[in-house]
Amino acid sequence: MPLRILRLSCLCALLLALALTAPAQSLGQTLAPQAKRDLAVLATAYPGVMAAIEVDPAGRATVVLTDGTRLPYDDGRAKSPEELLDKPDIKDMLAQPYPLGPVVAEPALHFSPGRIRVQPLFLALYGHDKAAVTANCRPVPFLGQTMAFNTRYGAADAFARVEAQLRRLLAADPSLRRFLLPASGGVVWRVIAGTRRLSVHSFAAAVDVSPKGNPYWRNFPPGTNILATRQGFPPAVVAVFEAEGFIWGGKWSEFDVMHFEYRPELVLLARLARGETLALADIGRLVHPVGAVRPGAAGQ
Ligand SMILES: [Zn+2]
Repeated sequence: MPLRILRLSCLCALLLALALTAPAQSLGQTLAPQAKRDLAVLATAYPGVMAAIEVDPAGRATVVLTDGTRLPYDDGRAKSPEELLDKPDIKDMLAQPYPLGPVVAEPALHFSPGRIRVQPLFLALYGHDKAAVTANCRPVPFLGQTMAFNTRYGAADAFARVEAQLRRLLAADPSLRRFLLPASGGVVWRVIAGTRRLSVHSFAAAVDVSPKGNPYWRNFPPGTNILATRQGFPPAVVAVFEAEGFIWGGKWSEFDVMHFEYRPELVLLARLARGETLALADIGRLVHPVGAVRPGAAGQ
C-alpha cells in the first residue's frame, strides 16, 4: 500500500476512534468539577454501588445505584439545618469538610461533617432491613469484646485493622482503656433519638466507645462548649480510626464523643483537601445522558 494511502487510512481510523469515544468524554466534562470529584470519591470509597450517573443537558446529575435507587447529586433546594439532616442530596452530604487530625477549635454551630447522611445510599450500601444487614455482618473482636460489623465495602476489615492498632496503643498506655471500654456496636436497627432517621448503628458500620464516659450533645444545654473534652480524648485513638476511613463524632458541633463511624468517602475528601495525590475511580464509563439507561439495567 502506498505510504500516502496508509497514512490516510491511519488518520481515518484515528478519527473514527475519536468519534466513538467523544460522547462519553464530553458528557463527563459536562459534570461540574465539584460533582465530578464528589462522585469519583464515592465510587472510590464504595466500589460498584453506582450503576450509572445520568446527566441532563443542563449538567444536572442523577446517581443510579445498583439497587435501582435514583438520587439527585444536587436537588437545587436551599435547606435549613434540620432539612439538611432530613432530606439531603449527595452534595449536601459531602459539603462539610471533615477535619482530620487533632481538634484545634470548637466547631461552628451545625458544623458536624458526616452527620448529614443520604439514607437511601446507606440502605443500598449495607442492607435494606435488619435481616439483610445482619446477613452482611461478621463478628469482629474489639479489645476483649466481640461485635458484628458489616463486611460490605471493606468496613469490617477496616474495623479489624483499627482494633489491632488500638490493642498496641492500650498495651503501651493502659490508661486509654477508660476512653474506649466497654464499647457497644453490632446491628442496632433504630432511629436517632428525637428523629425519624435511621442511626448508622442500624447498618453495623459504627461503634460507640465508653458510652457512659463520653458526652452526647442532647444531654447538654444547646451550644455547650466542650473543647476541653474534645481535646482531652486521646488524639492517637482518633488518628487510628481516621487512618482506616472512620470519622469521629467528637468533632461535631452536635457532639457525640463516643461515636466512630465508617465513612471512607469523607476521609478521602479530607485527604484530597490537604493536598494528597490519590488515585480515584474513573467514573467516565458510568456517565450517560438522561434516558440512556434501560429500566432494570441497574438492578443486578
Ligand atoms: Zn454512635
